[in-house]
Amino acid sequence: MRRYRITDGEGFELAGFDPDDTGDFEPGKGGKAKARAEVAELTAELDSLQERLYADGRHRVLVVLQGMDTAGKGGTIRRVFEGVNPSGVRVTAFKQPSEEELAHDFLWRVHPHVPRTGELVVFDRSHYEDVLIVRVRELVPEERWRARYRHIRDFEQMLVDEGTTIVKFFLHISRDEQAERLQARLDDPRKHWKFRLSDLHERQLWDRYQEAFEDAIAATATPSAPWVVVPANRKWYRDVVVGRELVRALRSLDLTYPPSPDDLTGVVVE
Ligand code: AMP
Ligand code: MG
Repeated sequence: MRRYRITDGEGFELAGFDPDDTGDFEPGKGGKAKARAEVAELTAELDSLQERLYADGRHRVLVVLQGMDTAGKGGTIRRVFEGVNPSGVRVTAFKQPSEEELAHDFLWRVHPHVPRTGELVVFDRSHYEDVLIVRVRELVPEERWRARYRHIRDFEQMLVDEGTTIVKFFLHISRDEQAERLQARLDDPRKHWKFRLSDLHERQLWDRYQEAFEDAIAATATPSAPWVVVPANRKWYRDVVVGRELVRALRSLDLTYPPSPDDLTGVVVE
């Protein structure tokens, strides 16, 4: 898994990462079934780790999900967290900013949603949109979005210093895979609600988005707030990679069940 984890962005290039990668799981040779079985185990372990995170009461965990349209942000949340107690996970989706949000600095709307102690929060899109779509669509001048890399590093470092564990996932799909997924949405009336004509326009800007992702990862991957570049053309492998990294991050916290605040020696339930 280590090859997907970027802890130092210096010289990072997306070209070194294959969205079709399935690691040790061979497609067509039982790889998919094996991967699904592992994800079931990972999600069960996540459930117990999340309970301990809450009980332990000393840590906060922030998961950031980014990717192109159809990369599978929603699907990843559904699959990887399906075995986890709904009370234990909070998902915040960042859509187009409101007028009120746009009237503030770009982190203003983000900060209130970071995890509190004992919480696991998933950002479905995040403050990274402010150096992705905002850059590609030229929504603010270059000097403004460029300065944001530094502001994001500082913001995330502040969260880490205050006790937050951060893991950021880039769900990496290929341009061809996106075409198939958009076509599937178009072919299924039940999926039209999430199809926007603007998605096709974003797609035309594919190369500029890839460049924006590459620069964002290069500028903000640090040991304390690493990026994971997830090969995401195969949904079942994507889920394995995300699940493994989350379990790893939570395990590294050494979570324990604290004793009762009361002295329970000799207590009998009658
Ligand atoms: P979806 O996640 O598919 O529902 O789409 C949400 C849309 O909101 C995407 O096109 C995002 O790029 C866009 N969005 C999210 N955050 C921002 C932002 N800070 N500025 C501009 N657009 C954004
Ligand atoms: Mg969309």
